[in-house]
Amino acid sequence: MPTSTRPDLLLPAEPGQRALARELYALVEQLPIISPHGHVDPALLAEDQPFPDPSQLLIVPDHYLTRMLLSQGVAPGELGVPSRDGSPVQTDGRTIWRRFVEHWHLFRGTPSRLWLEQTLTEVFGVHTRLSAQTADEVYDALAAKLAEPDFRPRALFERFNIEVLATTESPLDDLGRHAKLAADGWGGPGGRVVTTFRPDNVVDLAFEDWSANVDRLGEITGEDTGTYAGYLAALRSRREAFIAAGATSSDHGHLTARTLDLGADAATLFDRARRGRAEPGDTEAFQAHMLMEFARMSLDDGLVMQLHPGAVRNHNRWLHTRHGRDVGGDIPQVTEYVHALAPLLDAYGNDSRLRVVLYTLDEDTFTRELAPLAGGYAALWLGAPWWFLDSPEVLRRFRETVTETAGFYNTAGFVDDTRAFCSIPVRHDVARRVDAGFLARLVAEHRLPMDEAAETIVDLAYRLPKRVFKFGESA
Ligand SMILES: [Zn+2]
Repeated sequence: MPTSTRPDLLLPAEPGQRALARELYALVEQLPIISPHGHVDPALLAEDQPFPDPSQLLIVPDHYLTRMLLSQGVAPGELGVPSRDGSPVQTDGRTIWRRFVEHWHLFRGTPSRLWLEQTLTEVFGVHTRLSAQTADEVYDALAAKLAEPDFRPRALFERFNIEVLATTESPLDDLGRHAKLAADGWGGPGGRVVTTFRPDNVVDLAFEDWSANVDRLGEITGEDTGTYAGYLAALRSRREAFIAAGATSSDHGHLTARTLDLGADAATLFDRARRGRAEPGDTEAFQAHMLMEFARMSLDDGLVMQLHPGAVRNHNRWLHTRHGRDVGGDIPQVTEYVHALAPLLDAYGNDSRLRVVLYTLDEDTFTRELAPLAGGYAALWLGAPWWFLDSPEVLRRFRETVTETAGFYNTAGFVDDTRAFCSIPVRHDVARRVDAGFLARLVAEHRLPMDEAAETIVDLAYRLPKRVFKFGESA
């Protein structure tokens, strides 16, 4: 995926550093993409059907876009976001596209603008500048491309040069799409599309239908999830099934980073919650305890643990009531790691068989907490800036704030964390360009020789994420 239209996009403005950055970027521009964390629907690649219209592909599912228009008073239903109660929303692709483009100026200076522009030019070859006057012309050009066989999901996957893409599924998922991918030679252990074990809906007591989900977990696995021991056995069993479907990691989205070993009290708490009698504090305590259980499971089965605390889910309650989860109503909160992770680190922090990748939504923690932690514990790795922070400015600040304490080699490579399949190459390209700029500065300041910067940028773009997330290793 050459980025031909703006060759110096995001590279340093200072000519000396720009020249160095160009050289470094050239080393990684064409490297395969390792995408260890994201939310692409595996059905897309399993079924390989043509994408629907441009709006259903690029706007409706992208909550970065719809939340910005909501912030200016445009209802999500006008942009096609499905309603929870089935009340009608706009479904005409062209109408949605026009409504969106009328508000294009809202995205000046945002990464959403950069991602969408780069997707239009580099993925679709559509170079017309977006405006109310050109909305129809661009829509027609995109729709024509989507009708071509080269724009089917698997063809794009090849063109994007993705070596491995991890999707995310709950333990209640039957992994049928991954079985189809494996049957087609695309999935399974060491495959090109793999799953990730994300148990939040059976671990978070506050999750809608938690108890029913735990019942279902029992049915799927044949374990008695009426008991805590049976619940743990069921989780272990699902992890095995996920590993057989190619998973190399688990993913845990908790409100806080708290960890805790409840010991024998875990079973008591579990029983109480199963009877619908959870007490205040039980939700957080149980999640904290389950991170310890999952660490123990990881020591046995080798799954890399990803932990990303700090999202206050469904903060916009009106939005949640009308349109459900994951539509842009989540807001970051202050997150504490040093004390929260201490129980887990006391138990397993120096055990290099355990691998925990930490993410944050609280940028302040990079210098103060996360870089010192990742720079001092064998089990910890620092995940890329993620969600709200996955922008050029924060990617740059991330290197500036963590490298001096954690180095490059306690970081885990870039994650796109996206549902938007067509934005994957664009997002990885942005990260590679920012890293080229950062390394170019170290070279220009005589802090790193060029040959070491060259080795480092290839490690950051390709070798590190592959190694940290255990891709290409036999289990
Ligand atoms: Zn994610």
